[in-house]
Amino acid sequence: MLLPERIGVVGFQGDVSEHIDIINSIRRKGGIDVEAVEVRKPEKLDGVSGIIIPGGESTTIYKLTQNYGIYDRIKSMANDGVPVMGTCAGLILISRETNDERVPGMGILDTEIRRNAYGRQINSFIDNIKIDEIGDFQAVFIRAPVISSPGRSRVMARRGDEIVMVRQDNIIGMTFHPELTRDTRIHEYFLGLMEREGYISSGR
Ligand code: GLN
Repeated sequence: MLLPERIGVVGFQGDVSEHIDIINSIRRKGGIDVEAVEVRKPEKLDGVSGIIIPGGESTTIYKLTQNYGIYDRIKSMANDGVPVMGTCAGLILISRETNDERVPGMGILDTEIRRNAYGRQINSFIDNIKIDEIGDFQAVFIRAPVISSPGRSRVMARRGDEIVMVRQDNIIGMTFHPELTRDTRIHEYFLGLMEREGYISSGR
């Protein structure tokens, strides 16, 4: 019997269970045969076919991924072609330039970021955006960063002039939280990187 592909969700802090629930709901509704696993220790990354770094507090997630020894591991798996998705704080962690020495980015996305760029007045809001290859999407922004430069990554969505979602080969990142809506399309698109486009890791 074929085992489902495993998607590792970095599980220290933030919207961990929301990502796990969305991935598992895609499987339940008859989509791609995947199972989400919470990742803290490096062994949990063995054989995963994709990695999600959730939103939360990037300084905390950075420290814990370093302490547990998975920061460099995720970086090298990404460089080997394993799909990685970073949402909000997760995007900060995978960017090239975070402009904050407390959160050195992995640089697996060529983006430059400004953390907490919306300031206090409007630090959380919901807005409708249009995403390439996906369509209209209700995006939830919570103390979101801004992508000040996409570098070599391809812009997939904007909100007005701001870049809010990008892709660079096997890596996608967004400043909002697709795991906080019931809409599974971004996660399905992410799983499609391995299914349709053949980005796959595994050692299994
Ligand atoms: N403001 C957070 C940070 O810089 C990110 C917010 C989020 O992930 N919702 O880490």
